[in-house]
Amino acid sequence: MTARRGYPAVDRFRVAAALLVVCIHTAPLASFSAAADFALKTLARLAVPFFFTATGFFLLGELVRPGLRPRTLSPGVRRFLKKTGVLYAACTVLYLPVTLYAGNFPVENVLGELVRDAVLDGTFYHLWYLPAALLGVLVVCGLLRFLRPGAAAGVCGALYLAGLLGDSWYGLAKQLPALKEGYDALFGVMDYTRNGLFFAPAFLMLGALLAGFPARRRPRACLAGLGCSLALLFAEAFGLRALGWPRHDSMYLALVPCACFLFLCLLVPRGGDAPFLREFSMLVYVLHPMAIVGVRGAARVLHAREWLVENSLAHFAAVAAASCAAAWLLARLSQRRRWDGRSGTAPKPDLRRARAWAEVDLEAVARNAGALQGCMPAGCRLMAVVKADAYGHGAPAVAGRLWQAGVRAFAVATPEEGAQLRRCGITGEILVLGYADAARIRELRRWRLCQTVTDPAHARALARAAGRRPLPVHIAVDTGMHRLGTDAGAAPAVAEMLRLPGLEVRGLFTHLAVADSPAPEDAAFTRTQLDAFEALARKLRGAGYTLPPLHAQASCGILNQPQPDCGYARPGIALYGALSTAGCAARLHPVLAPALALRARVVSVRRVPPGEGAGYGLAFRARRSTRLAVVAIGYADGWPRAAGEGRGHVLLHGRRAPVVGRVCMDQLLVDATDTGAAVGDVATLIGADGPERITAEEAAEAAGTIANELLCRIGPRVPRVYLR
Ligand SMILES: *Cc1c(COP(=O)(O)O)cnc(C)c1O
Repeated sequence: MTARRGYPAVDRFRVAAALLVVCIHTAPLASFSAAADFALKTLARLAVPFFFTATGFFLLGELVRPGLRPRTLSPGVRRFLKKTGVLYAACTVLYLPVTLYAGNFPVENVLGELVRDAVLDGTFYHLWYLPAALLGVLVVCGLLRFLRPGAAAGVCGALYLAGLLGDSWYGLAKQLPALKEGYDALFGVMDYTRNGLFFAPAFLMLGALLAGFPARRRPRACLAGLGCSLALLFAEAFGLRALGWPRHDSMYLALVPCACFLFLCLLVPRGGDAPFLREFSMLVYVLHPMAIVGVRGAARVLHAREWLVENSLAHFAAVAAASCAAAWLLARLSQRRRWDGRSGTAPKPDLRRARAWAEVDLEAVARNAGALQGCMPAGCRLMAVVKADAYGHGAPAVAGRLWQAGVRAFAVATPEEGAQLRRCGITGEILVLGYADAARIRELRRWRLCQTVTDPAHARALARAAGRRPLPVHIAVDTGMHRLGTDAGAAPAVAEMLRLPGLEVRGLFTHLAVADSPAPEDAAFTRTQLDAFEALARKLRGAGYTLPPLHAQASCGILNQPQPDCGYARPGIALYGALSTAGCAARLHPVLAPALALRARVVSVRRVPPGEGAGYGLAFRARRSTRLAVVAIGYADGWPRAAGEGRGHVLLHGRRAPVVGRVCMDQLLVDATDTGAAVGDVATLIGADGPERITAEEAAEAAGTIANELLCRIGPRVPRVYLR
């Protein structure tokens, strides 16, 4: 599956293309001028080729790499077939009443007609597009299985020419009796040549070629090419119309260069893509005939035929508005369902009865991501580190909210964590930062994960396991941390990895050891790390390698270091509104809001007289008459044992109360003499209560650790409650 995304203009143009299809079916200018109407319709003929080209580009691009003959359909293609098939079935059912009402249901040779409608002509007049996409993708995959890309493209082109002669160039075919007979026989089997056999493969193949052999983007040349091809398209359409040749007007010769240059133009702007618009435009496409029926019905009921139906422009506007409204609503609903489904695997805890819980403010995470992005240089994308269940915040919910906020790259520690995100519907890049054995390649492929290459031996093992289908990877470079990565001084070793045919290197990164420290010697060390990384990049570029995106900075680096020229930054802890320790250096101070509050219930209160001991080892000894509260959270919930015996605090009634005695597995004891406490009260271990706040950094320090560890250890027994 080609996961190359990040072409916002392509997604935006989908909406325009869907509206152009609405134009074809409503003829907005028909009331004014037949020629203008035809011109608009001709322009609108670009819409479907554009959709096919986009599908080819995103779905089939990786099939045209030289030396690759995929034996089976890739998971991406299978997913596409399934999704499109389901959509087609749903639309067929949706439009069945209209089909029946219009008397278009076959009466003779029912089975044959149904199969033909379902596979070639479409079950409703606009629905031919869906079976054409399905059949076209199968045709192209089949061709690429047996032929080289060039030959496969030739076959697609020949099919297109054959289709053309049965469509707008039919007049030419008619002049040759043998050809005419052939087409007449063909039209006994299908209504049009505009289908998955003759029409779709050419543009799917075009898209695949554009993705497989990326051209140098030259916006001006592309625009000029588009202008010329459009002129050709109009000349061809009006010329053929004057000759009276068209049998139908879906296919023109000039549509091929038009689609090619249009797509190249749309590839120029880079940035985040717009999945909402993808869904929205598809819904506009499939729903607009329903809107036509609806508008006509409304016109009849309201006695407004004259200006709702007979005025073609008003008719178009009403249909477009109704389709867009319905599509927007459905797309919103479907997105909402997706995101709620992520956090909704566990039943929502009833906070009136819960013993301990973590409140996670997803809006704070989204705002923190925005603030961090603001500290990063333009062109540097945020790769959200959501390993360890998003540092204890709940990876599905956090990644889902960040995805909505436009983040398209995520990092996890293990393939399992990556798979969990994919199962929740997260698309985009997911990098596994930790080591994964080459034997796990099927898992990596299945979930479309990008694996970190930890050293040259790992690279060779992964490449060997990958065989002819390159595995997406990022190469880790060791610049002084001495954890994972190939030595930055070993440029030839890195170059060898870049050349390995089994690897598709999508990133090159290093990790900093002391970026959080303000000490001058640490700052100097960080500088040597970044210098070594940049030197390696320079050396490789000098040797003629085009490098994938580079990345080096995690949270503290983003806030602290001048930014090198990088494609990504990988913040983790800062996304959650914390830093490892309160003393972390930060040159930049974006407003980061803590996203998590940890609370637990007071379940028992008693008074103990002076001199009395309490808890394991009787480690607490009351010096005064003490109000002792039992709070229902312990080390099995992730609260460190080291934060007991007077070192940590909780908030009760907006005031601090010390944790006394040893922290137990499921409870801890609090001296609530000065704050008061009653059974059922809520104690806050991290977060705000009234005027007081305990930060994760502070609680971590009490336990002799860092906020990262404290947060990611909050256990599965503590339900997460998401605030929006
Ligand atoms: C965990 C991790 C990060 C995120 O670090 P933070 O300090 O939490 O921002 C980034 N890069 C790598 C390689 C990591 O392992």
